[in-house]
Amino acid sequence: MNWLPGQATAAVCFSVDDLHPTAGHDAEPVGDGARRAIAHLEWLLARHPQLRVTLFTTPDWRSRSAAPTRRWRGTLPLVRHLCHAADVLPRGTLRLDRHRSFVTWLRGLPRVDFGIHGLHHVRRGPAYLQEYAGRSRRQCRRMIVRAQQIMTAAGLPVVPGIAPPAWTSPRALLAAMADLDLHFITSARDLETPIAAGAVTHGSGLRGVSLIAPQMLPVGRLVHVTTNFQATSSPDRAMAILRHGGLIGIKAHLLKRFGSYVALDGLDREYVEYLDRLFTRIEDACGPRIWWTTLADVAARVRVGTRESGVVS
Ligand SMILES: [Zn+2]
Repeated sequence: MNWLPGQATAAVCFSVDDLHPTAGHDAEPVGDGARRAIAHLEWLLARHPQLRVTLFTTPDWRSRSAAPTRRWRGTLPLVRHLCHAADVLPRGTLRLDRHRSFVTWLRGLPRVDFGIHGLHHVRRGPAYLQEYAGRSRRQCRRMIVRAQQIMTAAGLPVVPGIAPPAWTSPRALLAAMADLDLHFITSARDLETPIAAGAVTHGSGLRGVSLIAPQMLPVGRLVHVTTNFQATSSPDRAMAILRHGGLIGIKAHLLKRFGSYVALDGLDREYVEYLDRLFTRIEDACGPRIWWTTLADVAARVRVGTRESGVVS
């Protein structure tokens, strides 16, 4: 099927993970860290009026560290599976519906939509950030519904898709998403595999899915879109994806620094200035042949296309 609309020959999707009302520290109010990071995104959106962005949001963020900090607990049998491997915020501290002014500000951002990025962004046990790992289908379903409830109660519209924390999407999560008829997931990141028409992913998260094209998974009617580009990728990689008629799946993470962790693709001035140059190059080279779109809109076209072509009944 052709998932591209009209005269488009390739597509660009941009998404940001870890959106949450960042915890205040010292004299800084809750949410100010997120506002500073998103200011970079606003600058980019103002310079490229065709650009749209999906903000993958954690409705009740509890993580205080990107890496385990309670290492001694990881050495104890049983205990290691019952405890968080790092300090966590109390449940509800950063729940979106308790931070209305932050949500009001989010809703005022132009050309963004909001997907789900876990519920708390932590879990008990060694795989601390892989929130959906080890969960049953029923538990995954409950977590998704709870995330939707919190976002809705906060007044934040939510698109029917998930970017799972730490790229981890066990079969139980996929099945739960199918149960709820969610439309898309982005759970593979591959920044290394050479660009080719039939290339598949070999990086983080799902392996063996298409590197450059949206793809219907054999679970419900769930569409997968791969992240194949980030701050460390070369412009040539992006241009190669366009030449092959693919989708550039660009990822950023909200915070450049989280404790001692430094994200290579954190939203900072350097990254958005790089994307500004890249987008200008794409516009100059391809003009109206590029579909600047969102994961939700891509998934909607794939779902309609596969129904019409009879690929999935
Ligand atoms: Zn995350």
